[in-house]
Amino acid sequence: MPRLKIIPKHEDRNGWWESLPPPAPANILNGERRVHTVIVGAGVCGLAVAHQLGRLRPDVEIALLEAERAGFGASGRNAGFLLNVHSHGPPKRTDILRRNIRLWESGLSDLRRMVREFKIDCGWHEIGRIYGSAGPDGEKHIEQIAATLEQLGLSRSWMSRDEMKERIGTEFYRRGLYTSGNALVNPAALMRGLARHLPMNVRLYEQTPVVGFEPGSHAYVVETEAGRMISERLVLAAGVYLRQFGIAPGRYVPMATYASMTNPLADDALALLGTGMPFGLLASSEYGATIRLTNDNRLFVRNLFNFNPNSPTPAPRVCEIGKLHRKGMLNRWPGLEDVGFAHSWGGTMAFTWNNGAVFGEFAPGLYAVLTNDVSPMTRGAAAGRLLADFMEGNDSELLRLQLAFPGACRLPPRPFLDIGIAIRRGLLHASARKEF
Ligand SMILES: Cc1cc2nc3c(=O)[nH]c(=O)nc-3n(C[C@H](O)[C@H](O)[C@H](O)COP(=O)(O)OP(=O)(O)OC[C@H]3O[C@@H](n4cnc5c(N)ncnc54)[C@H](O)[C@@H]3O)c2cc1C
Repeated sequence: MPRLKIIPKHEDRNGWWESLPPPAPANILNGERRVHTVIVGAGVCGLAVAHQLGRLRPDVEIALLEAERAGFGASGRNAGFLLNVHSHGPPKRTDILRRNIRLWESGLSDLRRMVREFKIDCGWHEIGRIYGSAGPDGEKHIEQIAATLEQLGLSRSWMSRDEMKERIGTEFYRRGLYTSGNALVNPAALMRGLARHLPMNVRLYEQTPVVGFEPGSHAYVVETEAGRMISERLVLAAGVYLRQFGIAPGRYVPMATYASMTNPLADDALALLGTGMPFGLLASSEYGATIRLTNDNRLFVRNLFNFNPNSPTPAPRVCEIGKLHRKGMLNRWPGLEDVGFAHSWGGTMAFTWNNGAVFGEFAPGLYAVLTNDVSPMTRGAAAGRLLADFMEGNDSELLRLQLAFPGACRLPPRPFLDIGIAIRRGLLHASARKEF
């Protein structure tokens, strides 16, 4: 049986996860089992497939296999922006934007519905978001974002430097652009909640890494560390690890990005953050820092991208990057000198060249899904649900939109890819340095 070369194993501590109570012990697969469908990966894509497939096929047994814990991957370690719209660069064609928005919004409304139905306590907060601009690169991009929102007829309002200072307590930004329609969450809590409320016929196995798989006669055999699963259908929702299964190799780039978070701030520190009310701020530049003040008063900073073919990033390197986050925090709020980060961590996400899709049936009974580059959480929720619809032959206009999405195109081979990424990263890094 072909063996997978890389299995996910994070050494660092994701602050969102650490802020939650300890989870129930993992249900680990031991021995051999036969089920109708196996899904690999309990991130936003795999959980969305599992929820929809479980609902559509209550008559069959479905297994969801996760190498670590549900929410340990990128879906539980991100910045927690569930976006309804997002676009960098000059405004795109209106028809393309409208197609994207249908998919983003459907993913967002699926997540909203499940959070309400299952009463998932993930700090769901629809307070909109602020795009911040600190330097010339930010200024260029914030104008483009404003133009895109205007093109789509979406609400937006400018915030002057003084208004930014009043709202979030810093003069770091030249100006901001406020818009609404998104949600902010604790992503680890959201993923855990979705995993806890799977349909009855879906069984979750955690700490159960798939180490090899092969097609058999009318069945797939999936080998895990302590057992094996035999199923008619296999769904791969393994995020950046998809290529380990031979899906879309050379069509996406795994890029690591990093985050740090404080413990809940004391009142005197909170008083330095303007109104002290929760907020979510995205840099208008593609490469700048994301900042949040959470519902429970933790300050979150995300910054930096690295090409990461052998993810995850080792803990000592993550620790170094935490120092950059601290610098970013103090550049904005020098008064927080005494505040340290409780946790720093990394996560890896996939980027394609053309914002292309990886979605569909790749061999008889073998399905795969990878979320898109832009607004991946809401796109992943939509794509996962639509993959289950596709598997069950449930046609819809949304499914046709998803299927019409261009496939992720082939990237240059390594080492040319490495060189290309290093140059692009260097250029973005240099132009956006004021936005860190
Ligand atoms: C720091 C950071 C901030 C981000 N901020 C945002 C944001 O604010 N908004 C947004 O929309 N996106 C954001 N993203 C991107 C987004 O989180 C990801 O693109 C998205 O979560 C990918 O979802 P996924 O389901 O495809 O992959 P994942 O969440 O990575 O899930 C894949 C799962 O498959 C499992 N798996 C892989 N291989 C195996 C195996 N062999 N056996 C068993 N299980 C396996 C993994 O353990 C993992 O849990 C951010 C990412 C990072 C890292």
